[in-house]
Amino acid sequence: MGSIYEYEPFFTTSYFSKGEGIKMMDELKSLLEKEQEPKKCHKCKIEMQLMYSPKTLHYDVNGEEYELSVENSPYHRCDNCDDNFENIVLYASVRKAIEKEIFLKLNNQEEIPKVMDLIKVVQK
Ligand SMILES: [Zn+2]
Repeated sequence: MGSIYEYEPFFTTSYFSKGEGIKMMDELKSLLEKEQEPKKCHKCKIEMQLMYSPKTLHYDVNGEEYELSVENSPYHRCDNCDDNFENIVLYASVRKAIEKEIFLKLNNQEEIPKVMDLIKVVQK
């Protein structure tokens, strides 16, 4: 569905290359790396599968609603009980970084992409 244009790097502003921005991005990267570690279902005590799926983030700018699809959002799934687990600390950090970037892009009158890829954020 997404065009190549929509997969342009999301975090392009200079904010994320200095001070508080670097800290925010480092925290996000380390949380994403931690998700790679095996986790056990607390009910079944068996190892869960690491899965990736798009996650839609809704936000509002001056009363107008927008959606951003965050591709490759990790979560853990238990094959036995079918439960899905996602790390809310990770997604709070994702949301914080994305909101900052959207705010900066709005201030610079830059276009806000409709899609971002979380894996590309880690690989940077
Ligand atoms: Zn389970």
